[in-house]
Amino acid sequence: MLETTLTNSYGLLPAHFFSRIDPTQVASPRLIKFNAALAAELNLDLGTDADDLAAIFSGNRIIPGTRPIAMAYAGHQFGQFVPQLGDGRAILLGEARDRTGRRRDIQLKGSGRTPYSRSGDGRAALGPVLREYLVSEAMHALGVPATRALAAVTTGEVVFREARVPGAILTRVAASHVRVGTFQFFAARGDVEATRALADYVIDRHYADIASAANPYLALLRAVVRRQASLVARWMHIGFIHGVMNTDNMAISGETIDFGPCAFMDSYDPMMVFSSIDHRGRYAYANQPTAAQWNLARFAETLLPLIDPALDRAIELATEAVGEFSTHFEDDWLAGMRRKLGMFLEEDGDDALIRQLLGLMHQNQADFTVTFRRLCAGAESDAADVTVAGSFADAAAYGGWAQAWRARLAREPQPASERAAFMRLVNPAIIPRNHRIEQAIAAAVGREDFEPFEELGSALARPYEDVSSFAAYASPPSAEERVLQTFCGT
Ligand code: AMP
Ligand code: MG
Repeated sequence: MLETTLTNSYGLLPAHFFSRIDPTQVASPRLIKFNAALAAELNLDLGTDADDLAAIFSGNRIIPGTRPIAMAYAGHQFGQFVPQLGDGRAILLGEARDRTGRRRDIQLKGSGRTPYSRSGDGRAALGPVLREYLVSEAMHALGVPATRALAAVTTGEVVFREARVPGAILTRVAASHVRVGTFQFFAARGDVEATRALADYVIDRHYADIASAANPYLALLRAVVRRQASLVARWMHIGFIHGVMNTDNMAISGETIDFGPCAFMDSYDPMMVFSSIDHRGRYAYANQPTAAQWNLARFAETLLPLIDPALDRAIELATEAVGEFSTHFEDDWLAGMRRKLGMFLEEDGDDALIRQLLGLMHQNQADFTVTFRRLCAGAESDAADVTVAGSFADAAAYGGWAQAWRARLAREPQPASERAAFMRLVNPAIIPRNHRIEQAIAAAVGREDFEPFEELGSALARPYEDVSSFAAYASPPSAEERVLQTFCGT
């Protein structure tokens, strides 16, 4: 029944890049969710039998011919350098070639101890597995580059966290699992040849168009800076807070990776932090561009010996490249915010108009997602003003801004209905709100009821539509439902 084999190009790199290891067998795997559409996209032919799929995605059955590995990496965690991290509870099964010809990593997360586990148990709990499943798939549906979820299984074993909780394994699909921290692992050891081999690997895998650049390593840095600026701008446009932007959680491919304490904000607050371990708000919503640029500076440091043999010159070139982040981010952010507000021409006052709205939303605890979604109707007719104003604590706060906005929209060429339709393609109705995720997890963990998880997943798959049966998922939490803190997956 297993037609599929997986290759492993990372496993062909030098031996100290990884450890060869098989997943640990688990007691009684049960399939919770299989993403058949993604499997088809990956050309995986694994059949439909739930027991077979549970065996594969628990690691109990290894697809013949594969050589699973755990990858070595390092990383700055909240600013502190840790020279040795690595896949402590994840195992890369191998790569599938998808329908577009791209190689995609297939990784089990929660599949047992590895040489990089340190004091960890190598396991994952059901709650965080469901959370990553829902949020990573939601990000994809929202159009944001992100790792995907191929399967979730329970292991039939108990793991010990704050309490005894059901063990689970997530199967993650990524463009690759190379992180800023992977580069740091080698650079910190002064291993320039390994750094070069890794850089050549990622150029070949993710940035083939720069292979022939005059200075490919500088071009790589610039390309990664470009993609990260675009990615973080996308996060900002949908109110996403990653929560743990350590350098080991920043993928060189430009995908969002590691959905631990991440969250979407409800009411707009630029200093919003959800993560229980982010005491100083290092990774607060509005700090994300700065945090990304800081990480990119750490990436640049690893490439210095490759960029130019003269250190001064290398630093000069790398500094300039990392500096480009700001312009790229500002451009992408503004372009996206214009689209959110139905402004397709570019005018000088746009930035101020956008910031004015955000300021009012902050002062009035306006729900980020609801406000922008309602503004789509507002762009079509001022009859919607009452509804939009209803998102603001002081309804009158919206009126003055709306007048300025309408005057601005009057200079746009397209009919109002067309403008509103475009806006609905970038202002989601449905995002993975914390309280909904917590409800789905509580039902699954507390009473093995996976119905809320299933239904939430279906709603999140169509974020830009107004589906009447999913209307409840578009609503912000009530005061009692609000979730103010999220926890790491560990
Ligand atoms: P994260 O906070 O998920 O980005 O993980 C940071 C580091 O801790 C990585 O090296 C993980 O592999 C490792 N880690 C997290 N949870 C566990 C666990 N339960 N067992 C072993 N290692 C873990
Ligand atoms: Mg991580």
